[in-house]
Amino acid sequence: MVSPQAQASVPAPPMPTAHLIDQLTLDLQVHQIELEMQNEALRLTQIELEASRDRYVDLYDRAPVGYLSVGVDGCVIEVNLTGAALLGFERGRLVGSRFAQRVAPVDEQRWHRYALALARDGGDLRRIELLMNRADGTSFHARIDGVRVASAGERPVLRITLIDIDEHKRTEAELRLAAVAFETQEGIMITDAAGVIERVNAAFTRITGYTAREAIGQRGDLMHSGLQDAAFYEVMWAHLKTKGRWQGEVWNRRKSGEVYPQWLAITEVSCDGDAPQRYVGTMTDITDRKAREEEIALLAFYDPLTDLPNRRLMKDRLQQALVASGRSQREGALMFIDLDRFKEINDTLGHDKGDRLLQRAALRLVACVREGDTVARIGGDEFVVMLPPGLSESPEESAVLAEAIGDKILKSMREPYDVDGLVLHVSASIGIALFGDQPTSVEELLKRADQAMYQAKAAGRDTLRFFDAVAQDSLRARSSIEADLRVALAQGQLHMCYQPVFDAAGKMSGAEALVRWQHPQRGLMLPDDFVGIAEGSGLIFPLGQWALDAACAQLALWSGDAVLGQLSLAVNVCSLQLLDHDFVAQVLAVVERHGVNAARLKLELTESVLLHDVDDTIAKMRELKAHGVGFSLDDFGTGYSSLAYLKRLPLDQLKIDRSFVHDMLNKPHDAAIVRTIVELGVSLGLSVVAEGVETRSQCELLTHLGCSGFQGRLFGMPMSADELSQLANSEPPVKAFPQD
Ligand code: C2E
Ligand code: CA
Ligand code: CA
Repeated sequence: MVSPQAQASVPAPPMPTAHLIDQLTLDLQVHQIELEMQNEALRLTQIELEASRDRYVDLYDRAPVGYLSVGVDGCVIEVNLTGAALLGFERGRLVGSRFAQRVAPVDEQRWHRYALALARDGGDLRRIELLMNRADGTSFHARIDGVRVASAGERPVLRITLIDIDEHKRTEAELRLAAVAFETQEGIMITDAAGVIERVNAAFTRITGYTAREAIGQRGDLMHSGLQDAAFYEVMWAHLKTKGRWQGEVWNRRKSGEVYPQWLAITEVSCDGDAPQRYVGTMTDITDRKAREEEIALLAFYDPLTDLPNRRLMKDRLQQALVASGRSQREGALMFIDLDRFKEINDTLGHDKGDRLLQRAALRLVACVREGDTVARIGGDEFVVMLPPGLSESPEESAVLAEAIGDKILKSMREPYDVDGLVLHVSASIGIALFGDQPTSVEELLKRADQAMYQAKAAGRDTLRFFDAVAQDSLRARSSIEADLRVALAQGQLHMCYQPVFDAAGKMSGAEALVRWQHPQRGLMLPDDFVGIAEGSGLIFPLGQWALDAACAQLALWSGDAVLGQLSLAVNVCSLQLLDHDFVAQVLAVVERHGVNAARLKLELTESVLLHDVDDTIAKMRELKAHGVGFSLDDFGTGYSSLAYLKRLPLDQLKIDRSFVHDMLNKPHDAAIVRTIVELGVSLGLSVVAEGVETRSQCELLTHLGCSGFQGRLFGMPMSADELSQLANSEPPVKAFPQD
């Protein structure tokens, strides 16, 4: 096209009309094309504009935070999809509504103050946390950031963002909790996979003496004492690799150089079965506890005069020997040794000389046996020698071997004694009972050896006798009781008695269920007459079931009563019952059948449960405990169980055996045992109940020592359920507690 200036400066040559028209038409066409091109460009810009707006809207709507515009009147003007979803509303229902309606009532005032400040002070970003209500009535914690925007001539608007911070808060709380949990009484040490320490807590520093700065970056063996050999650690690591955790006692060295015992538990941390990433070790200093254990062991299990094991320890070893002989099919022997005419010496020469003589005799006895045999002093001048299983498989041969040792003892005992320049002559009588051919109990064996010893005395002393067939009579009596017990169970001749247990405030807190048997011919039979037989014959299983059932039935009857409903009821469970793989299910079934609160039920076990599979026992106890059932360790102090194992049992209570309570007032030794047991109980977090409390003085001393429960004649012997109910509802029956 020709420009207007060009037209003006260069005059156009004259043209024919037709040619002019052609030129004009052409110009017009060009102009039209130009116009169309402009339109197209405009359309493209429009599309681009729309796309960009869509992008913006999309970004706005689906942003990870809620956006709201709120007018200064408090009404929502606009909200993105995320904001609407957070509040649980459709967008349309939010717009126009007041934002304050979405705020939980507790925070409404704070919102108003915030909105007011924002509207007044303007442009700076402000933050607040509010509890918001969703449409469905649930609520969540939100963090709100707001700013006031105002374009010229328009009313200002509050633009706010909304974030759900519940998850964040939870994580924060968990972190806080983890931090608190980390700072416990137990030392904690976290190492990487190679055993290099990454973190320790304050208790770790208290126990080991190493500060976090000193420990971090070092290897865990920093604290090794050298008392465990390489093999020990090999076994430990092998266990860790297969089981993922290990625990046990180790001797470690503090920074100060002091070596001390600790209970160490190591757990491996890994992700989804991958190779371990970290190890967490928790440790407790058990110096005090170990000292206490040793003290108890010494006090409770050894005779102070001769340093020999006492009756308790002997019985415990015998029990273990019985289990072992059952396994090995080999025989062991129990010898009951009584000095002849010792009483005369004691009475004529005095107790001092008597004691000295007993000490000499003890030394001689020990010299007559091999290592591994047990020599115990079980009474004044009564000793027991136990030859553990391993003599021989044949009873005849075993008898010959036992007789040889018996003869050696007799010979040694009749040698003259020199006591402070006096020459004394004493002999001994020995009764021997072999064990291993048939299952029997500790008590039964002792009885047999004792009987045989009396035969030796009757035969003129200074000799030995074996338990013989005549004594088998009692075996026959046993089997008739066994047959009768079968009938008794079927015909309901058994019933329960209840002995109350009182707390230190003098209030009845529970009872123990004790079985009784009304025998049609023999009359009332006590458990000691038949529970042992039931254990030997397997009848203990139906008997145990019956006892649990009777106890739960009683709990159900009590449950509605204001006073009786508060009592817990203890049932004796023997360790054989716990071996039953179905034991847990049986207990839970009885509890459920009677609809009673499992927390009212307590099972009394004895230390003999530790003679069997301890891990299995613990697992069963834990399972029952998870349902609320409580556990008490009965006759505590009479078994010589490994206290290390004992600590692992999930117990609630220890019951001090009545033999200690009986003698505590006149034997300082027994009082010391009671004191130590109470301390041990307290240190393990267990309540301690004393059994067989018969006098007020015993009760006072027990209270003084810190016992928390009392059972015995002073409070009431085993009685019927009706009598117990009367007692529970009467005034406190005993004013035995010191009144300060
Ligand atoms: P235990 O569990 O040690 O029960 C306490 C025993 O001490 C009871 O004897 C009780 O009558 C007696 N006793 C309570 N207070 C005193 C007191 O002040 N002085 C004296 N000297 N004795 C007192 P009981 O009823 O003859 O029971 C003997 C044992 O039989 C029980 O000893 C327990 O081991 C066992 N037993 C009782 N019932 C059952 C049962 O249902 N199942 C099983 N497996 N064993 C049971
Ligand atoms: Ca008991
Ligand atoms: Ca007991």
